[in-house]
Amino acid sequence: MKGPGGMSRIEAEARETLLRRRRSLSHPPNPSAADPTARWGDWETTPTPPPDGVRRELADIDAALTRIQEGRYGTCVNCGGPMGLQRLRAIPEARYCVACSGHVEAPG
Ligand SMILES: [Zn+2]
Repeated sequence: MKGPGGMSRIEAEARETLLRRRRSLSHPPNPSAADPTARWGDWETTPTPPPDGVRRELADIDAALTRIQEGRYGTCVNCGGPMGLQRLRAIPEARYCVACSGHVEAPG
């Protein structure tokens, strides 16, 4: 433990990870390359909105980046308790601590 300033490193790490993930999500690699059956011409001209999962992940990432900027990163948005470094490393965009994620994350 390095005292109150100890969060800055995990914040920097998380920020980097989040920004990289955000970039790869908003500009995914050519989808037709991943799916050899998607060869019809309209595929490239039709703007396909990102699937729900991706949009939600982008929103989570943005929210986490905002929390980093505001100095609130690393605390559960539900109970305000600490997330824990391991959880933040595993899921940098997590909103809830382990205890809360079990009963807060519900669809809708
Ligand atoms: Zn919590």
